[in-house]
Amino acid sequence: MITIKPTTIITLLHLLLVSEVVSGSNPGAGVKENIHPHNLNNPHRELHKREIVSDASKVNGKSFDFVIAGGGVAGLALASRLSEWSNVTVLCIEAGGDGSDVQAKIDTPGYSYLNSLTGSAYDWAYNTVAQTDSGGATKYWPRGKGLGGSGAINGMFWGRPSEPEFDAWATLNPNAAETWNWEEVNKYIKKAENYSPPSEDVKTKFGMTSDPSLHGQSGMIHVGHTNYIFDEVAKWIPAWITLGFKSIDNAAGISRGAWLSTSTINVSNQTRSDSKAGYIDPLPPRSNLVILTGQQVTQVLFNGTKDANGNIVASGLKFQADKDATSYSVQANKEVILAGGTVGSPQILQLSGIGPKETLEGLNIDTKLDLPVGFNLQDHVSYSMYWSTPQGTFTWNNLSASADLKAQAQEEYDTKKTGLWTYVNEAVGYPSMLDIIGSDDEANSYASNIASQMTTTISNVKSWLDLPDNVVTGLKAQYDIQQKWMTSDVGQLEIILTMLGKGGNEMGIQVALQHPWSRGKILITSTDAFTQPSINPDYFGVGYDIDIMNYGSGFARKLAAASPLSDVMITEVYPGPSVTGDALGTYTKTNCGTEYHPMGTCSMLPKDSGGVVDTTLTVYGTSNLRVIDTSIAPLHISAHTMAVTYGIAEKGSDIIKKKYWKQVPIQNTTSSATSAAATTASAGQATDTSVTNANKDASNSDSSSSSLSSGAKIGIGIGAGVGAAAALAGLLFFFCLRRKKTGAASNEKGWYDNRNAQGGWNDGAGAYKEGYASPPNQSTQAYPMAAFDNHSNSNMGGPPGAFAAHSRTHSVDTMATADLASRMPMRSGSNYGNLSGTSTPYRDDHSDDGHGHGLNHGGDLGHQYPTPQGAAGAWPRQQSYQPVNIS
Ligand SMILES: Cc1cc2nc3c(=O)[nH]c(=O)nc-3n(C[C@H](O)[C@H](O)[C@H](O)COP(=O)(O)OP(=O)(O)OC[C@H]3O[C@@H](n4cnc5c(N)ncnc54)[C@H](O)[C@@H]3O)c2cc1C
Repeated sequence: MITIKPTTIITLLHLLLVSEVVSGSNPGAGVKENIHPHNLNNPHRELHKREIVSDASKVNGKSFDFVIAGGGVAGLALASRLSEWSNVTVLCIEAGGDGSDVQAKIDTPGYSYLNSLTGSAYDWAYNTVAQTDSGGATKYWPRGKGLGGSGAINGMFWGRPSEPEFDAWATLNPNAAETWNWEEVNKYIKKAENYSPPSEDVKTKFGMTSDPSLHGQSGMIHVGHTNYIFDEVAKWIPAWITLGFKSIDNAAGISRGAWLSTSTINVSNQTRSDSKAGYIDPLPPRSNLVILTGQQVTQVLFNGTKDANGNIVASGLKFQADKDATSYSVQANKEVILAGGTVGSPQILQLSGIGPKETLEGLNIDTKLDLPVGFNLQDHVSYSMYWSTPQGTFTWNNLSASADLKAQAQEEYDTKKTGLWTYVNEAVGYPSMLDIIGSDDEANSYASNIASQMTTTISNVKSWLDLPDNVVTGLKAQYDIQQKWMTSDVGQLEIILTMLGKGGNEMGIQVALQHPWSRGKILITSTDAFTQPSINPDYFGVGYDIDIMNYGSGFARKLAAASPLSDVMITEVYPGPSVTGDALGTYTKTNCGTEYHPMGTCSMLPKDSGGVVDTTLTVYGTSNLRVIDTSIAPLHISAHTMAVTYGIAEKGSDIIKKKYWKQVPIQNTTSSATSAAATTASAGQATDTSVTNANKDASNSDSSSSSLSSGAKIGIGIGAGVGAAAALAGLLFFFCLRRKKTGAASNEKGWYDNRNAQGGWNDGAGAYKEGYASPPNQSTQAYPMAAFDNHSNSNMGGPPGAFAAHSRTHSVDTMATADLASRMPMRSGSNYGNLSGTSTPYRDDHSDDGHGHGLNHGGDLGHQYPTPQGAAGAWPRQQSYQPVNIS
């Protein structure tokens, strides 16, 4: 019998696919783009799907090196980054669905604003407790539930705060193992970012400033501007300039000023670029990565052992679909990582016995670690004001009111990916305290007053929220920083232009508090994981917050009156110009809501300052349990929170890699290199009794058989070598099929056609509303849009240069913390980056248009890095890093 080594098969497959890429590229990318503008009909689409399963029995009783709770913004970025190394196994467990049933709704930018998945199965749909200081009512608190998390249902804003705000994270964590200052966090935001600048025409029309050098160019998340922007938006930046501000590119580390925010949009096809689309969908097959949907993590398991430093050891996770469903468990060989977000992560910790002792004891939960989990909650609270517009001004209301226009816009989006449905809010600005008060003397005096009242304020917050002493220490450190910001350029409010009024001919300005003085908490009230925790952001608990919002309302009035915005914002309708002073405060409190940016519930702070995690994001007192998501942010920022969460996840991945990996010297980079290549790992069997005994009632009958993906099975089969010849035959067949289908592709129905047929539009309840409660007798309204202007979509085929062959050096730079890249520049064969060394690099949008991450057309395998010096003269093909301790 002929024995074919698995690596030979891999090499053959690689060569076949390389040749396919090369031949597919001729006679030029331009021609190919016309046939497959975004690779919609790529026949490998199915093959390239990740191992996303919904059957929990497939992972029950298994073991993975890393087990992640939550498949949202941070969770999927982590899953992708950690599984880059093929000999490490990763499981990500997500409570919600995979999104395929609502894909068109997720993808279509405007849907989040006009309709939205909030209120659907993809929203946890929390409510706060009654808010004593904001009208006494509860407030609706949506959070994404499904792959992509809140990033799949959100407003797509992509922005950074100013430099001092990340620097403050470092200040709050002195002498720490890891630095979290501006330079460091921004470096990792850039690593996640793949920026497409606006065209010169768009820049000129809207007065935009864009400096591509400030942005990441080769990350996984596409960031850019919408195809359609309302004409009225062109009056935004000039009005700020009238008031003395600058047009900024906020990636510069300056938030004071005005800009048209970037969005998480893939400009080539005007679809949402969320963590699934960015970090998971483009991956080549990875049998070492499994993503399980529809299962809620209910508990972290501990096996009762401690490490040499006395830290408790997490052994795995328990999970179940719903309250009455079977409970399952899985083992983590190395680490458990919580990425459940600001609500989910503290909830899981508390349910697992890590949290405030008083709370846990009250629920008869054994306290494993007494930590202030759930405290230091900070949220951006916001409300909107509205102005009448001149007759005939085209706003989103026109779209709302006209079925014909909707159908027309839908048709345009479906066929051309242009038009009204591409628009999302993007006109914003961040004034400082000096700006909104309008007088330096008054601002200085306000800041002095805060300083003199500091002790009283802290003591009040402590008593209102029943804060543990260490949280009070941390609060004091945060307040000292916030007090200094009152007289600095740090933005205190976000001011957003909204194109949708409450009534017909109106436009609005949303005012959102960026550095709340109020603190809140999220605590479980039941041992039942399916009971929502008590969420109390305590909006306006500290009076400074309503002062600042009132100043902000005054600022919004000035802005609306500034030329040229004053041309289209005529008379203030809500709350109305006569509403001032206390009445304005009451209106704000009654009509406010979340801007959807809660953070801080698992704060990264020193332990004696109320920290839950240290700067390596490890939960204090544990050996191998981390929290990596927005909840670790210790002090709020003047920015939306998605970009920073990607930064947290990217840095978190490197921190983990730094711990577990070392470089293995490569003995021979020529012929033996291929034969030594590692087989991609797949899940093992759980052996830890804390995991295997965790669910005595669960049926483990099928957990001993390999029920992983066919991809994983193929991997195992190949490893055994016995079925290698058959596998090769299959691969050859597949290759032939691909060639055949490529030829037929132009006749096939496009991907988006299929998805839109499923999707449809829903004008009913559940739209992504602004965070305000409607006064009685007034219907709620969703987000804005404007003039129906058929901008030509120059981006449809990928703007020249925007997706020029991606340099990986940026990613390499950001790996400095892990000290990996400097020794081994990443390339497709290194298994670094989102490309597996055993598969053709593939990226949905660009794999066959000449602009992809992948191999150069023409078969030049060394296009990103110089050929290494030395006898071999070729890059090694095998994995170069090995986990240190994975047994
Ligand atoms: C409606 C809305 C609009 C927003 N708009 C913007 C915007 O325009 N720009 C911006 O920058 N930010 C925006 N945000 C905020 C931004 O989306 C979040 O900051 C970001 O998604 C947080 O990332 P995360 O990974 O911490 O949490 P998420 O992205 O929320 O992910 C957490 C994931 O964990 C899952 N999970 C939770 N608990 C469990 C459990 N027990 N078991 C298994 N899975 C669990 C959740 O289902 C979810 O998928 C918005 C948020 C919302 C809700």
